[in-house]
Amino acid sequence: MIALEVHNLHKTYKQRKKLIEAVRGVSLNINSGEILAFLGPNGAGKTTCIKMIAGLIKPDAGSVKIAGSDPHRNPRSLRLVGAVLEGNRNLYWRLTPEENLEYFGTLRGLNRRVAHKNGLQLLERFDLISKRRAPVQTLSRGMQQKLAIAVALVHTPRLLLLDEPTLGLDVEASQNVKTLVREIAREGCAILLTTHQLDVAEEISDRVAIIQQGKILAEESTREIIRRFSGSTYIIEIA
Ligand code: ATP
Repeated sequence: MIALEVHNLHKTYKQRKKLIEAVRGVSLNINSGEILAFLGPNGAGKTTCIKMIAGLIKPDAGSVKIAGSDPHRNPRSLRLVGAVLEGNRNLYWRLTPEENLEYFGTLRGLNRRVAHKNGLQLLERFDLISKRRAPVQTLSRGMQQKLAIAVALVHTPRLLLLDEPTLGLDVEASQNVKTLVREIAREGCAILLTTHQLDVAEEISDRVAIIQQGKILAEESTREIIRRFSGSTYIIEIA
């Protein structure tokens, strides 16, 4: 089943008198249970695409459909999306993991009891249960990232958006996050993640879309992308 359909997205930013064509005709689909990695160098347009899919910024042209519904026309379809967009900023640092999960769960339409129950299940599963009553600011960077993903999943979305999910994590925390992401996809959630690290894309994604200067250069199975591009200067540049 197709969870996400993106057709011919365009976005130009206006900065003072300069126009920046950040996204220039991006199209892609992701099926339930599939992980697509958006791979590209800094400034390629990955975050802008993700923000348009998450309904945060409006495309100049093109369309987004989440499970068949356009979030820019029907904001309720955003309840089908979970997103970790800028590191841990979707967390309240002085609140505990339990409180964060309950708060964001109710914000996305769950009643308090269900939000609490889902939250506890996620904390258990993400190995954070012992920290459930500790202020988020006392958690390690890796724990905060796992919690941010748990918060994005509390309302059981069909599509999970992750912007650079392993950036700034040590090897063990990064491995933990990659394992969790794979498990979440296996349960049927579609996942779109951005990365500029080839090894992250190689380890967890089913397909890779290489994006540069706002355009998709190639989009294939991860194995095919590695075969085609490994050794090329382009991959070396972005890896
Ligand atoms: P990074 O990994 O550095 O975040 P990215 O691939 O996610 O890169 P974007 O953040 O989408 O790329 O940026 C694409 C282009 O748009 C860049 O040239 C960037 O400077 C520009 N840009 C992004 N956000 C804005 C904004 N709010 N206003 C003006 N220009 C922007």
